[in-house]
Amino acid sequence: MSADNLPAHDSTDIREGDILFDCPHCGKNMAIEAAGAGLMVRCANCGQPIQVPIPNHHTPEAPVATAPADVPVDDGSPQAVIRQLDAALAMANQQIDRLLAEKEALQERRAFLEQMRIANVTRFEHIALELGAVQDALDRALVLLAEVRAEKPA
Ligand SMILES: [Zn+2]
Repeated sequence: MSADNLPAHDSTDIREGDILFDCPHCGKNMAIEAAGAGLMVRCANCGQPIQVPIPNHHTPEAPVATAPADVPVDDGSPQAVIRQLDAALAMANQQIDRLLAEKEALQERRAFLEQMRIANVTRFEHIALELGAVQDALDRALVLLAEVRAEKPA
């Protein structure tokens, strides 16, 4: 493929997957299709040769490995290293599961305590009402007692 013919174009016309970069000579914003990564192109603005940067690909997360059935043996082979990494990953996943379960339990506990708090507030309000009623009854009893005492000859 001839570098001179690669369609490096102005960054105002960007398409999906294009690599965006600046010309190191004139600073012009450039765009080129992904196939141009790492190739030499000429700046559409100043005509100087530019190497197209190779973008850091954000590769999607690898699928979660299942825990190996037995303890991995370290014989130094790449397979052993991979098994160890798998085991470490499985352990990390187990720890995440445990932490999630713990978090759920704490949330349940918190909800329970919140319910208790609300119930206690209601209970205290009830107690206050009851105390008020008791106070009223005491007041009435004192009035009656005073009346009885007044009627009783000294
Ligand atoms: Zn340039």
